[in-house]
Amino acid sequence: MPPREKLFPTTKVSAVNMDALAASAKEASKHAYCPYSKFRVGAAVYARKPNPEPPGTDAEAIFSGCNTENANYTLTLHAEHSAIAKAVELGYTDILAVVIYTPTETATAPCGSCRQVINEFGPRAVVVATCDAEGFSPRWNMSKLLPDAFGPHNLGKG
Ligand SMILES: [Zn+2]
Repeated sequence: MPPREKLFPTTKVSAVNMDALAASAKEASKHAYCPYSKFRVGAAVYARKPNPEPPGTDAEAIFSGCNTENANYTLTLHAEHSAIAKAVELGYTDILAVVIYTPTETATAPCGSCRQVINEFGPRAVVVATCDAEGFSPRWNMSKLLPDAFGPHNLGKG
């Protein structure tokens, strides 16, 4: 492991990968389609494939997404949802971490809808909000963002 490799208490994502997630989220925000809100959002998730084939290969990866607005506002796709959909499509259904980036002076927490989407695949994920301000990036566990969450267990799954 690189010297900077440091595990966070609630996830197995290294500091190096958290830096990569932050860079990926920032890059994704550049592609946001947001002609109505003008509010660019990028998100990146660190996800694990539960049953990689062959075992041990490409078991973890980063997926990014951006907000994609629609003239029918209710069809707008949020950055977190977009990133998670990419991960799930390729079988990476265990979300370990989510980083959100907005080109603002204050960090933006995920909306309620995205908290529910994150919870489906990452009930123990760490979520970090980044922005253009230097220093502190708010960090939460999903249990803090969505306490007593409705999830797969309510339907006899997971
Ligand atoms: Zn959202």
